[in-house]
Amino acid sequence: MRFDVLSIFPDVFEPAFRQGVIGRGIQRGVLSLHAHDLREHSSDRHRQVDDAPFGGGAGMVLMPEPIFAAVEAVRPQNAGPVLLMEPWGEPLTQALAQELAAEPGLIIVCGRYEGIDDRVRQLIGDREISIGDYVLSGGELPAMVLIDAVARLVPGVLGDEASLAQDAFAEGAGGGYPQFTRPAQWRGLKVPEVLLSGNHAAIERWRRTHARTGRRARGGASPLQRLS
Ligand code: SAH
Repeated sequence: MRFDVLSIFPDVFEPAFRQGVIGRGIQRGVLSLHAHDLREHSSDRHRQVDDAPFGGGAGMVLMPEPIFAAVEAVRPQNAGPVLLMEPWGEPLTQALAQELAAEPGLIIVCGRYEGIDDRVRQLIGDREISIGDYVLSGGELPAMVLIDAVARLVPGVLGDEASLAQDAFAEGAGGGYPQFTRPAQWRGLKVPEVLLSGNHAAIERWRRTHARTGRRARGGASPLQRLS
């Protein structure tokens, strides 16, 4: 799967995805990530990509032409939808990440300043996506969140695909249950006996009843047992 990101700060992406699961996916050739500098698509001799808003008001707005030119330049290599990162967009959820992971690629536009000229949305934007109800200074961090959430769902990216099924929010699964590793006893807390029992049916039952997906608000009993 191919990701093309359009940004005025393209250098932030490579270090973020060099390590870990996504980095391995890139090394294996299952994923490719290309960050493009919007300034290189400016027709202006000062490589200007932003200008003052019509109607007045504070700040600057990203001009439409460099974004159009950048999308046109990557289009032959990427047949996927054009996503605009916007705080007012549809919320990023696991279900949306799953849907996007089925695309051949994604073209992701990162806003800055006061946002993106609305004609980009009207003419080439397929959907606008928000990572939450708060305003960040740019679309780069939201784009990284989106890429990470989608890329780990692409077949061949995770070493063990079974770990997808046990994710919180995974379809049909009660994911997000408490996990433990060694030591079995630590600071007065011991790992629930059933997890050491080797009884897979009982472990499965315990995990289902302790799955936290959708029940975070309810609190629930602590899975930890005090030693005394
Ligand atoms: N004044 C604008 C804020 C622009 S923030 C408004 O109130 O809508 C600048 C850019 O940061 C946006 O264009 C978008 O690309 C990005 N951004 C900020 N918060 C975001 C969020 N919660 N989700 C996705 N993108 C966000």
